[in-house]
Amino acid sequence: MYKCSLERMSDKIRTFAKYGDAGHGGITRYSLSPEANMARAEFKKRMEAIGAKVECDDVACMYATIEGSDPNAKRIVMGSHCDSVKNGGNYDGILGVMTGMEVLETVVKENIPHKHPLTAMIWTNEEGSLYPPAMMVSGIICNDYLPPELAKNFKYENMMKSKPMDESEFANFGEALAASPYKGDKANRISPDKYCAMFEAHLEQGPILEDNGNEVGAVQLVMGMFNYRVRFHGFTAHAGTFPMAKRHDALYAAAAFLCEMHKRFDELNEGQDPEFVYTTGEIYVHPGIHTCINDEAEFSLDVRHPDPELRQKVMDILKEMAAEEWCKCTCDIEEQWVRDTVYFDKNLVGFVEESMEEMGVKWQKILSGAGHDAQFCAYMIPTTMLFARTKAGLSHCEDERVSDEDCTTVATATLNAVLKADKFYD
Ligand SMILES: [Zn+2]
Repeated sequence: MYKCSLERMSDKIRTFAKYGDAGHGGITRYSLSPEANMARAEFKKRMEAIGAKVECDDVACMYATIEGSDPNAKRIVMGSHCDSVKNGGNYDGILGVMTGMEVLETVVKENIPHKHPLTAMIWTNEEGSLYPPAMMVSGIICNDYLPPELAKNFKYENMMKSKPMDESEFANFGEALAASPYKGDKANRISPDKYCAMFEAHLEQGPILEDNGNEVGAVQLVMGMFNYRVRFHGFTAHAGTFPMAKRHDALYAAAAFLCEMHKRFDELNEGQDPEFVYTTGEIYVHPGIHTCINDEAEFSLDVRHPDPELRQKVMDILKEMAAEEWCKCTCDIEEQWVRDTVYFDKNLVGFVEESMEEMGVKWQKILSGAGHDAQFCAYMIPTTMLFARTKAGLSHCEDERVSDEDCTTVATATLNAVLKADKFYD
């Protein structure tokens, strides 16, 4: 049983928190920004200092590799992203990068024998907060392996045209990439020819580990989801002159629908399965002024659960409801995307669980409700994830916290799982 260093991990946490420091406890570090470049330079410096070879691919992913005893063996990679959302925290993404670095540093410092080359990796543009969509680059790299309905959303040519959502000196992602000092060679991309396994450590981003008194989680799968737009059509008229009884108010229809939808979905989930979650995060109305009745109202609906049968039942309710009339308005729904549940590699999940058990830490099996690069990578090579306890379940905000001890625990669990994988693969 090898252990990672709390002191070294703490030093990395403090150092990376400087790059994009927004001055009130968190960071804004968009992908390919000057702040992200500082984090990448730190990664390169530290990895070269332990003798790792640092390479970049054509979409600016970075790979720091130390050789193993077998020059022909495929690489085992540990990685995540170093970009954040606007006013994000100091752990989402970078924790998995720091974990990869810490594993390599521990292996080098303690001279731990291993057969396979070991790689710490930075995935480019996971959040997609400046250049959407999220998980853009893993979507590009794993494109040939993704199911067609997913792959079509991440075509290289289209992704290069992605326009910035916030201030940027570049017109699109392709231009930002062309200007990046970390744009390298396509031949360096992670691929099944050169890599046999991928581990992503991440903060949980939810309250389950903390509520159960556990430090870390062995992630079994990423929940399937679907995303719809739900639209209501009425007509507009003057707020002062048009009688209530004659109105076809689209916002009123949307509100009535929303309340009924909650009731029907919750009835379906009678057992109160906590993994079934649905969210109406975005709403749009037209004309959206206080002197008019709204003729259009639209909201997003995001539904997640691991079981496709339950997701189908939810979708059936949605379709049934859309066929009804709501406060004299019509309703239509449009699918945005559907993703199946992604199961992580059984062997790798087993290695993670064995490591956590051997370490004597408090751990549990857990599911991921959020999307991660690992879920696309899992279509390409054996992949798995580890979660670290997240204070109060908060993430994508400046109050996002993981203790230094829990960060080190997840790194130690990764290290020992990687060493098991090292013995398992040829
Ligand atoms: Zn993340």
